[in-house]
Amino acid sequence: MPPSAPANRRSHDAHGPVRRRPGRHDARGDRRGRGARVTLTVLEPATEAVLAELPRAGSDDADAAVARAKAAYPAWRAVAPPDRARLLYGLADALAERQEELAVLEARNAGKPIGDARGEMGMVADVFRYYAGGVERNLGDTIPVSGGVAMTFREPLGVVALITPWNFPLAIASWKMGPALAAGNTVVLKPAELTPLTALKLERIGIEAGLPEGVLNVVAGPGSVCGQRLVEHPDVAKIAFTGSTEVGRGIAAGAAATIKRVTLELGGKSANVVFADADLEAAAAAAPGAVFGNAGQDCCARSRILVERPALDEFMAALQPRVEAIAVGDPLAETTEMGPLISAGQRENVASFVSEDAPVAIRGSAPKGPGYWFPPTVLAPVGNDERPAREEIFGPVACVIPFDGEEEAVRLANETIYGLSGSVWTRDGARALRVARAIDTGVISINSNTSVRVATPFGGFKQSGIGRELGPDALDHYTELKNVYYATEGS
Ligand code: NDP
Repeated sequence: MPPSAPANRRSHDAHGPVRRRPGRHDARGDRRGRGARVTLTVLEPATEAVLAELPRAGSDDADAAVARAKAAYPAWRAVAPPDRARLLYGLADALAERQEELAVLEARNAGKPIGDARGEMGMVADVFRYYAGGVERNLGDTIPVSGGVAMTFREPLGVVALITPWNFPLAIASWKMGPALAAGNTVVLKPAELTPLTALKLERIGIEAGLPEGVLNVVAGPGSVCGQRLVEHPDVAKIAFTGSTEVGRGIAAGAAATIKRVTLELGGKSANVVFADADLEAAAAAAPGAVFGNAGQDCCARSRILVERPALDEFMAALQPRVEAIAVGDPLAETTEMGPLISAGQRENVASFVSEDAPVAIRGSAPKGPGYWFPPTVLAPVGNDERPAREEIFGPVACVIPFDGEEEAVRLANETIYGLSGSVWTRDGARALRVARAIDTGVISINSNTSVRVATPFGGFKQSGIGRELGPDALDHYTELKNVYYATEGS
């Protein structure tokens, strides 16, 4: 039986209940440009009800945010490292104190299970704590040269613009903001219009935690207006972006006009490679979470499950009950494992990959009624060149692709424009490492499907992006390397 749709919850904006219901499923406000003062309507994907109505930022607001960040930059970069670290530790503590409030808001706005939202908000606090520790480890080198001393410094860039998506709204914002602020930059964050609420709350929490005015600015407006203005703006030194490969391509091209630095975290079509000698029970138990987590709206989703042919039947038999048992429903219910998709448009796009004649091998359940629901779906067998195996679906649809032997596994895994994450399941340790090295991807796990940790680098090969987030290296992406030569024996 399909789980029931969430009971009609009351809708609130930041200050109280709102009454309006949208005319369209994913009403996003009207697209006006410069100086527009229109309303941005934020929906709750599990109910389609209005969650908040806000002023919708235009390009004048983006300009004003950049001006505030520019004005705040000289003083922020001059804050003594231990003091800047203390401010970021304070922000981390304030976020940890507000974890539940932020998690409920994120769960409602993004439609994600409350347990997942709590984990993400915990990570947000951890990210700021980790990079607070990095402020005083922003080290340079001394280099042996003749006639004096050469030394390097990592200098901040200035104003950094962060453009973020709706799938992990505050978590992804923190991955960029933590190292950017720690390195001494000021930031302007443009969250996705579908999910701006936790970012706006973060801006207020930042002020309350003592960040100086203008250091952390949020503009909630459309990408094609506010985002684009930030990309063009001559006072923005860098764009850090997460989103679709298509928009990322445009951002890279736009940033070229002013030689802005860019970090791009883009799409993925990652392979979960299961060899016949693997612990098939463990691989089948872990596979659903790796593709249906966040309703499949995850750039790391292992949406191509490559299974060695002799193990195919056993793997599918072990997979089926697990997919069918996924609890899809109200994001705020403690037992929910998968929520709705973000919008009607996203559901339409996902559905286009499951045509009438699609080889649906396993189908889970989803609530009926309001909400952008889509059941967990496994297509099998699928050819690696077919559309569901080629394109990022960004929904709960997995493709099972059979293969014969190690060489074919690596070839199929690499036959994609993407290279973000992936997994290898085998009991043969040497092969695990060989295959992990041979797959062109930024992050890969052996006998596990995890990708993201605060302390390890994350990012893509090929059209999955440029640059790395998280881990110790992220600080380098928010600084310029300067060499200073000090003559000690004449000039
Ligand atoms: P987009 O790439 O359009 O959006 C990501 C961010 O970029 C949002 O803040 C968006 O603003 C902004 N943006 C959009 N256009 C521009 C522009 N011209 N200049 C500057 N910023 C811009 O993703 P979508 O939301 O449209 O999702 C579409 C598909 O992208 C998904 O189905 C999925 O395949 C992929 N995707 C991948 C993500 C990832 O984690 N790698 C995350 C999200 C999506 P706004 O939305 O407010 O207009």
